Amino acid sequence: MKRELVLSQNSIKTLSQCSYKFKIKYVDRFFWNDFSPKNREYNEGLKQGVDYHMRIRRFFQNVGHDEGMMRTKLSTIKSSYIENGYKLYNEFKINSFYKGRYFVADIDMLAIGEDEGKIYADIWDWKTDLVMPSQSNLENRMQTKIYLILTYEMIKSRYPDFDARNLRMKYYYPRIDSYSRDIKFSKAQYLMTKKMIDAYLIEINSIVLGNTTSYRIEKGACKFCEYNKFCDFSELTNRK
Ligand code: SF4
Repeated sequence: MKRELVLSQNSIKTLSQCSYKFKIKYVDRFFWNDFSPKNREYNEGLKQGVDYHMRIRRFFQNVGHDEGMMRTKLSTIKSSYIENGYKLYNEFKINSFYKGRYFVADIDMLAIGEDEGKIYADIWDWKTDLVMPSQSNLENRMQTKIYLILTYEMIKSRYPDFDARNLRMKYYYPRIDSYSRDIKFSKAQYLMTKKMIDAYLIEINSIVLGNTTSYRIEKGACKFCEYNKFCDFSELTNRK
């Protein structure tokens, strides 16, 4: 039985870079690891990231006593939320269904609070990278757009008066900085992201139905693509 296509920030980011890669990876489900140094480095980074996320989760859930965590900015963040009566949801999963497609977002921590009858929410993402991206890079990330829109719709379905401006995405890079990088949301951004998703859905449906004959490939996307050794559409080969 063919598995249902579930869309995430990763799959939509792939689609935005190369619609053929989206097809082979997420529609045909042909996963490939090229064992390149870059790929090995990436997998090593993932392992470290899993450990670090576990420590943060344990810290926010009051499991054990982590002296190292207590000394980080996370300690202040945690106390501030608790003092203000926020509810903290660690490793929170959002499942959503839109225009016949499933969407999913795995959020490291969602903080939701109320003040004078208004709902406020922060989406936290813990990063273990050693390079700090620019603010515009963070703002334009697919992760930022997808997490914000899915969280906004989820909260709004429960609190219809929820104001988009009371939602923020917060990236935290504890290995290089002690302050989060915040991205505000707005109704205008909501509408723009919705328009972007609608356009991608047209493309996705065409790929899934097998109606796509030519693919959209972002310039430079093939250079670090794990499929580039055998891909017929790769700009690194002349096999087109
Ligand atoms: S090698 Fe290039 S064209 Fe082929 S899947 Fe990767 S990014 Fe797309």
